[in-house]
Amino acid sequence: MKLTSFAFKGNVRRQLGNAVLQDNMKRFGGRFVKARAEAMQQVDNLEALRLAATQVRDHTLAHLEEYLTAFEDCARKRGTVVHWAETSEDVNRIVLNIAAAGGVSRVVKSKSMVSEETGLNEALASAGIETIETDLGEYILQLADEPPSHIIAPAIHKNLDEVADLFSSRHHTPRQTDIPALCREAREQLRPHFLSAQMGISGGNFLVAETGSVALVTNEGNGRMVTTLPRIHVAITGIEKVLPTLNDLSLILRLLTRSATGQDITNYVSLLTGVRGPDDLDGPVESHVILVDSGRSGLLGTDLQPALRCIRCGACMNHCPVYQVVGGHAYGWVYPGPIGAVLTPAYVGLEKALDLPQASTLCGACQVVCPVRIPLPELMRVLREKSMERRLRPWTERWLVMLWRWVAAQPALYAVVTRWAARVLRWAGGRSGLLHHLPGLDGWTEGRDMPAPQGQTFRDLYRRKAP
Ligand code: SF4
Repeated sequence: MKLTSFAFKGNVRRQLGNAVLQDNMKRFGGRFVKARAEAMQQVDNLEALRLAATQVRDHTLAHLEEYLTAFEDCARKRGTVVHWAETSEDVNRIVLNIAAAGGVSRVVKSKSMVSEETGLNEALASAGIETIETDLGEYILQLADEPPSHIIAPAIHKNLDEVADLFSSRHHTPRQTDIPALCREAREQLRPHFLSAQMGISGGNFLVAETGSVALVTNEGNGRMVTTLPRIHVAITGIEKVLPTLNDLSLILRLLTRSATGQDITNYVSLLTGVRGPDDLDGPVESHVILVDSGRSGLLGTDLQPALRCIRCGACMNHCPVYQVVGGHAYGWVYPGPIGAVLTPAYVGLEKALDLPQASTLCGACQVVCPVRIPLPELMRVLREKSMERRLRPWTERWLVMLWRWVAAQPALYAVVTRWAARVLRWAGGRSGLLHHLPGLDGWTEGRDMPAPQGQTFRDLYRRKAP
């Protein structure tokens, strides 16, 4: 996927001016929030479950090499070829080599965010291999030539009318707006590809070390067809996705599906283990798993390691007031929302995604709903500190922060400065009591007015209330 995170502010301006997007985000985003809240109410002792899941993820990350090696051994025994890819280029090269060796001219894909990281579709296209996305959301986006804007609902930014127009123009069929009919139309288009593709490419929600299995969690049947119908199956997944046992998987699944879509369980949970056996009716003859690093191991042992716990449920973005307004494309890379504001700078470099950790009021909603308790606001603060230390922020901002730090460290001076600031701001608010413009802090007032303070500081009010 083409990186545009460095142009976040421009992206945001464009998205804020898109009335259809605003309407779509308002309509669809709220549904996930409601569904999650209802599903979580049914869970006994939710906090104990979140704690257990967090501990499993932390334990696995602390012994990552051990569990990945165990996974590799078990997977190999079941006939899977395990590849290690250090970079995105390695992933594409490995897939192209497998395709060349297998005489592949057509690939069907189920959703894989890692393949978006590597730009795999483009690499396959340049090798003359036709690639068809088969997840409905991804298929819609492939027709529209757009990247995903959400990690579990990639086409969340599109409404029914837009999809109806797209299908009609790309399939050359009469326009229809009945959702089951549109799904049937997509199925009719995709079915021949499932039957004729020589290779299926999927992601992997998790890897199970004790069995050498790839776990896929989906709501559409496409995942099973991609992984069982073509002769060759390739699963591409990040190294952090490994779990020690099937019990751990069942624990994580209880949280994943409820956090993502509010479902007790998704329509399909598949465990893909090795190649087709002599008595199996289906399954691939050739099975490959590509374990992708691409920046992940660089986070181990750092302040940002907790981000690797992520199970890609999407709850943080569904609850983020910034994501809800600007949508996923504004973030300019594969992972949007709060987790994207941490992972993108960590994977592509802070200087290429400098504004993402700033795109948050640090309200904490993301951390509250994260099933594996990733302290996202804290991680964004860590990245903000790094950008200051590395002098990546504008010098005016750095000087303002340094000045503020100096003032805040001297209580008497702080009291005088804040008292005067409160009075000046009250005066600037005038009769309306609203500040339309704050010199040097335009970002705060560009899209809304800021209520002016009442002319008193917290200390003044506290002193008055104190006995
Ligand atoms: S950071 Fe937490 S809430 Fe966000 S996608 Fe990952 S697991 Fe889900």
